[in-house]
Amino acid sequence: MGNNYLCPKCRSVLNIENNIIFTVKTKDNQRGLILLSVKLGDYSVKNQDNLTIEKGDKVQFFCPICRENLSASDINENLARVIMQDDEENEYQILFSIVAGEYCTYMVSEDFLKAYGDDSSIYLSDL
Ligand SMILES: [Zn+2]
Repeated sequence: MGNNYLCPKCRSVLNIENNIIFTVKTKDNQRGLILLSVKLGDYSVKNQDNLTIEKGDKVQFFCPICRENLSASDINENLARVIMQDDEENEYQILFSIVAGEYCTYMVSEDFLKAYGDDSSIYLSDL
């Protein structure tokens, strides 16, 4: 068993094997599926070939099950949020940049903060 990633709204599990599955909408309103790695700090992305995402584009992330927009705009409009649940059922907020090419992820709970990625300094002051 590893960590599970949950939608903050409907609490469905969004990961299968090594990927977290999202539906996305690109800046030119293309919709599609995108897979992110379950490993925090691993920025390999899989998406359908017909989805054009260029560096610097903002991509809207949605829960594939309840379609909630996962934007964490209460913190910063460039971040999205999922819940990570570990083996002991501890829960953390996982915040990640929705700007293509920005490598930053934050694992946050009330008394815990860990930042991942080369660009993690960008949003630290918002947390
Ligand atoms: Zn959901």
